[in-house]
Amino acid sequence: RVAAPEASSAKPGVPGVRHIIAVASGKGGVGKSTTTANLALALKANGLRVGVLDADIYGPSIPRLFHVSGRPEPVSGRVLKPLEGYGVKVMSMGFMVEEDTPMIWRGPMVMSALTQMLREVAWGDLDVLVVDMPPGTGDAQLTMAQQVPLSGAVIVSTPQDLALIDARKGLNMFRRVEVPVLGIVENMSYFLCPDCGSRHDIFGHGGARAEAEKLGVPFLGEVPLDMQIRITSDAGTPVVVSDPDGPHARIYRDIASRV
Ligand code: ADP
Repeated sequence: RVAAPEASSAKPGVPGVRHIIAVASGKGGVGKSTTTANLALALKANGLRVGVLDADIYGPSIPRLFHVSGRPEPVSGRVLKPLEGYGVKVMSMGFMVEEDTPMIWRGPMVMSALTQMLREVAWGDLDVLVVDMPPGTGDAQLTMAQQVPLSGAVIVSTPQDLALIDARKGLNMFRRVEVPVLGIVENMSYFLCPDCGSRHDIFGHGGARAEAEKLGVPFLGEVPLDMQIRITSDAGTPVVVSDPDGPHARIYRDIASRV
């Protein structure tokens, strides 16, 4: 929905990449990476050329979600060729280190790793590069917001008050650095019981929609808490590719069309 921002000397663009969108959450475990993967695949299903940059360098989950592993090969000099999963170009710190290696890095190292993954990767021509941000409002978010011309940010939250408060912090951070907030996704919004068919609002419901209205940002959609989403994500076959005609894929495609 938004125009690509102008590149400037302070925020040079990534050649060939039209839009860079950050997916962020105030805290961990709310389903940010699951949303990133399914949103990216839904954008692809809607006909766009898509890449995913896993900036969650302390807990990279994009390699698992896209079922890709291995080391990216250099194409020329220091520039690496991204790996590919389901037709989406993927780059992650997870490709550079062993899975069990803890990342104990200070801010400046985080920043240089992120800058490298953005600028020293042969992304090619992309309509959208979706960035899975680390949770919170720390160095990585600031680096991205300051050094990259972001078209906008999508905030993922669960309905509970606490998660929402954290999401609000994230939202305010993007506003402070003048990155448009494209909207809020409510994840784990409700549970449809497969046995009794009734709906249970496990973490409450509607909090993110109310919050979006209060903050004057679009509400992008509700994703239920559902076993199929967890199982397919953990198996590296996100629901948008493994069940493209199912109800969850439709929800993610709707979200993608509102971004
Ligand atoms: P984050 O990136 O915010 O830390 P993840 O996307 O890694 O969160 O999700 C955390 C866990 O919750 C994963 O096991 C994931 O499969 C599961 N999960 C995320 N969203 C849903 C959902 N809507 N329904 C069921 N499980 C979910």
